[in-house]
Amino acid sequence: TNEYLRKPEWLKIKLNTNESYTDLKKMMRSKNLHTVCEEARCPNIHECWAVRKTATFMILGDTCTRACRFCAVKTGLPTELDLQEPVRVAESVTQMGLKHVVITAVARDDLRDGGAFVFAETVREVRKANPFTTIEVLPSDMGGKLENLQMLMDAKPDIMNHNIETVRELTPRVRARATYERSLEFLRRAKEINSDIPTKSSIMVGLGETVEQLYEAMDDLRAVGVNILTLGQYLQPTKHHLPVKKYYTPQEFAELKEVALQKGFSHCESGPLVRSSYHADEQVKSAQQA
Ligand code: SF4
Ligand code: SF4
Repeated sequence: TNEYLRKPEWLKIKLNTNESYTDLKKMMRSKNLHTVCEEARCPNIHECWAVRKTATFMILGDTCTRACRFCAVKTGLPTELDLQEPVRVAESVTQMGLKHVVITAVARDDLRDGGAFVFAETVREVRKANPFTTIEVLPSDMGGKLENLQMLMDAKPDIMNHNIETVRELTPRVRARATYERSLEFLRRAKEINSDIPTKSSIMVGLGETVEQLYEAMDDLRAVGVNILTLGQYLQPTKHHLPVKKYYTPQEFAELKEVALQKGFSHCESGPLVRSSYHADEQVKSAQQA
């Protein structure tokens, strides 16, 4: 265990729950929908749902065919494909009055299209019902097949986000099935398919990477044209997950952001509680201006 590594003060935050939030949770259950905001017990939920009007939906079920060693989503054989889910997500986006929505999914390696069809349908339904809401997609590598990526890009999301999660050296220990090269290739091809759609990626820090390795990962992402980068502290969800090797200070996060901007990212969110979807509404604006 890493009991000697105490959680620093800046990570001790109180979960903010109020009434409107409880109502929204009830709505999610009644529609049988899942959000990362709830499942990951994200500390930003009040700010995102109530103030910024953004949320992250997790579609295609709550069971993943992979078991990444940092992730709290349960692993197993997924439920059957729910073809009504896209419409229910679209309705919830309307009810919540979202300005920006992130749509992510568990990895569905059991499906030939990796879930791309339902994913693309969700983008189309959300768009149809909410023409002014910006839509960010955050898929797995969907089996690394070009036709799956093409299907999702054809639905024209406002941002294509695919997380590299960690540096090259640590990838085999941290991620299941996904490889560093395959993720870079996924991002490169997304740009190739439609260069008007900004691409984005995210790295968790604190898994034992060196600063040089982080800089290298930034260079690799820039080399495939990634526009937006998020950097956040890895937190161990349970004792069965990888331990935290280091807590970066807010100052170190600020320095990493400086480096990222120098390397040419148009936008970088970097901080202890930054998650892939944090302040995503601002990223759309800056990417559109770039
Ligand atoms: Fe949800 Fe992302 Fe906001 Fe957390 S940062 S509450 S996961 S939208
Ligand atoms: Fe979690 Fe995604 Fe890995 Fe599945 S593929 S275990 S949802 S990080």
